[in-house]
Amino acid sequence: AMQNGYSKKKFDVAIVGGGLVGSLEALFLAKRGHRVRLYEYREDIRRTPQVRGRSINLALSIRGRKALKTVGLEQHMIENHGIPMVGRMIHKVDSSTYVIPYDTRTNQCIYSVGRNYLNSLLLNESESYTNVERHFNHKLIASDLKKGTLTFKRTDTNEEVNVNADLIIGADGAFSAVRKAMMKQPLFNYSQQYIEHGYLELCIPANEKGEFQMPPNYLHIWPRGTFMMIALPNQDCSWTVTLFMPFNTFKTIDSEDKLISFFKEYFPDSLPLIGEKKLIEDFFGGSPSPLVSVKCRPYNVNGKAVIIGDAAHAVVPFYGQGMNAGFEDCNVLDELFHKYGDDLEKILNEFSDTRWKDTYAISDLAMYNYKEMRDLVTRPSYRIRKAFDDLIFWAVSDFWVPLYNSVTFTLMPYSKCVENRRWQDKILYTCIVAGVVFTFLAFFFTRL
Ligand code: FAD
Repeated sequence: AMQNGYSKKKFDVAIVGGGLVGSLEALFLAKRGHRVRLYEYREDIRRTPQVRGRSINLALSIRGRKALKTVGLEQHMIENHGIPMVGRMIHKVDSSTYVIPYDTRTNQCIYSVGRNYLNSLLLNESESYTNVERHFNHKLIASDLKKGTLTFKRTDTNEEVNVNADLIIGADGAFSAVRKAMMKQPLFNYSQQYIEHGYLELCIPANEKGEFQMPPNYLHIWPRGTFMMIALPNQDCSWTVTLFMPFNTFKTIDSEDKLISFFKEYFPDSLPLIGEKKLIEDFFGGSPSPLVSVKCRPYNVNGKAVIIGDAAHAVVPFYGQGMNAGFEDCNVLDELFHKYGDDLEKILNEFSDTRWKDTYAISDLAMYNYKEMRDLVTRPSYRIRKAFDDLIFWAVSDFWVPLYNSVTFTLMPYSKCVENRRWQDKILYTCIVAGVVFTFLAFFFTRL
């Protein structure tokens, strides 16, 4: 039915949300020759100065890269913009540091990319397709997903705009309006969880010479048990620093003195890099944002509507996989378009029936990593396990891929990564038990 990835039928597709995932999905569908209209609540980010909200930069890994490759943007992103991060650099309270490499076996790394840069790149790329229209300042306010109708309110003119589409794609983020409409459908499962922690973004500027103030090719972490700080490098040699902390702890820091002594106590090495004045400005200039995790299913309404990205599965950011998982959604959908030759009902049903296992898996993993990053990394048990994992990985890399590596550096479905970890745990556990028994027997028999 298809040649060159082109579809025979030309669908009228309305995408709600022109964030990272929506603007990427527009490219996938445009490539297939469909007519795509992209509706975004905010102004065109390419024309407005950076607004606060969401993270400023993010970690791009293999799943996101694969999707970018399909639309021809991977190389540009990696070579011209991404900053490689080859491991975690842990900052201890005494200001000393050590490195935990991500992948010594195959030398893969993750890339720090600017959210606005990537989003703009995707939108710019969509300009090269005559079959894509972009409508900014359009907020979805009502919809009938079964009929395929949407009502937007223009935030600039206050006008209402009605739209009909063969297919509606909800890529409108963690607080999705399309998902809200789906919740009215029978048999729709939904759960959300706010974690106790919020996040606040700070900045380590470039030095006077315009250089990085810390080694650039690492994701820096200051794990402090119940809270932590991380930093990812930017193109202009500054760092976006994110403080994750319980809202209650944020509240106790209510004066400049308390803030400075808090940093002196817990993040002493970062203080001169951020600068006291800038720290005070940035800390009190913003307020901590909440982090929400959303699980729901099914993702579709018949062959008419589907949600992807954070709208379908917002996850906490501790595995660096939210965007990557959303980008992978685009790939999965694209493969189904190919498989079912434009039978929307089949495509959306299969997407919904199969994808949730993997998104639930990454959601759980991210929740687990929430603890690992701020606390467990500092414990001997974590480092011993990691040493074992790395050793076996090094010896038999096809057979034994540690969990973090399978999630970040392979295209193995997330649910499979979790299964893998389970049998690895079993083997390690069995070896430990066998080792203990053996030692005991050896001891016993040598005394006979
Ligand atoms: P969004 O980026 O939220 O975009 C949704 C868009 O829809 C927005 O532009 C919004 O304006 C628009 N919209 C909303 N409502 C409406 C409406 N009613 N009508 C029209 N438009 C609407 N992921 C990674 O892979 N790696 C990382 O390192 C990483 N770090 C993160 C750090 C933090 C602190 C946070 C919060 C997230 C992080 N993520 C990371 C996750 C990542 O940000 C999200 O998964 C990603 O932004 C999801 O993209 P999206 O397009 O689905 O949603």
